[in-house]
Amino acid sequence: MPPERSAIRSAEVGDGLHVRRALPQRDRRMVGAWCFLDHLGPLDFEAAHGLRVGPHPHIGLQTFTWMIEGEVVHRDSLGNEQTIRPGQVNLMSAGRGISHAEDSIEGRGGRLHAVQLWIALDEAHRHGAPSFRNYPELPVIECDGFRVTLLVGEAFDQTSPVEVFSPLIGMDIATMDGARTQLSIDPSFEYALLPLIGSVEVDGDAFTPEAMAYLGAERDRIELRSESAARFVLIGGAPFGEDVLLWWNFVARTPEEVQAATDDWNAGRRFGEVHGSPSHPLAAPDVSKLRLRQSR
Ligand code: MN
Repeated sequence: MPPERSAIRSAEVGDGLHVRRALPQRDRRMVGAWCFLDHLGPLDFEAAHGLRVGPHPHIGLQTFTWMIEGEVVHRDSLGNEQTIRPGQVNLMSAGRGISHAEDSIEGRGGRLHAVQLWIALDEAHRHGAPSFRNYPELPVIECDGFRVTLLVGEAFDQTSPVEVFSPLIGMDIATMDGARTQLSIDPSFEYALLPLIGSVEVDGDAFTPEAMAYLGAERDRIELRSESAARFVLIGGAPFGEDVLLWWNFVARTPEEVQAATDDWNAGRRFGEVHGSPSHPLAAPDVSKLRLRQSR
């Protein structure tokens, strides 16, 4: 089966920063437990701009930030303040509830290139305590001219230190001047590949940052080829066995849970307080729109 072309849409985060959103899409909600995929930049910004996402709540997911260029400060309601730098991952497990803010360093212009993903937590973990961790170093493997950073999971006899709760894989793959390889993959996982820069042939079909390649499951290898400089992420995982409901920053199961989380955020309950962010807290959208969507 050739790779399926999955469209990317433009979305706005925080204070007017446009990003490319690959997940969720109407016809592609998840890839394994990966349920959200934003590509930010690469861009240069002035002192007054950059990423400014004020305090907002999450439930039922892990936020996974992979920083390629630039620096962003994460602040959360557990009191963590962590600058994430190139080559690092920030992983925040929301469990039953946490709030955080993500801001470029104030008053300083710069460069931003990052990927943010969400990982849906399964029933056994989604009601757990929130936590946060920065991973300053990840395994890097040289593979036939590609430089592979192992973000999540196991590959090339190495294991990423990033702690997740379902079978997942995530890799950042880059080449300076072209490369070709064949990757062995787990046929029980479904996979998708999102180009970030340049062009990559996936089993002979060319993909650029305008679309994500969805590969499905039951493959034991992928042929990857780039003629010139390129960078992409490969994500995969065991198909997630639970139906999730994504609404705003919540990964839930029912509209009632979303309503309760929204009410708690609006009333200042459950999600604690984020200190030190220069950005305004985000207002939750009206949940009646979700109920309308559900009843259609
Ligand atoms: Mn967030």
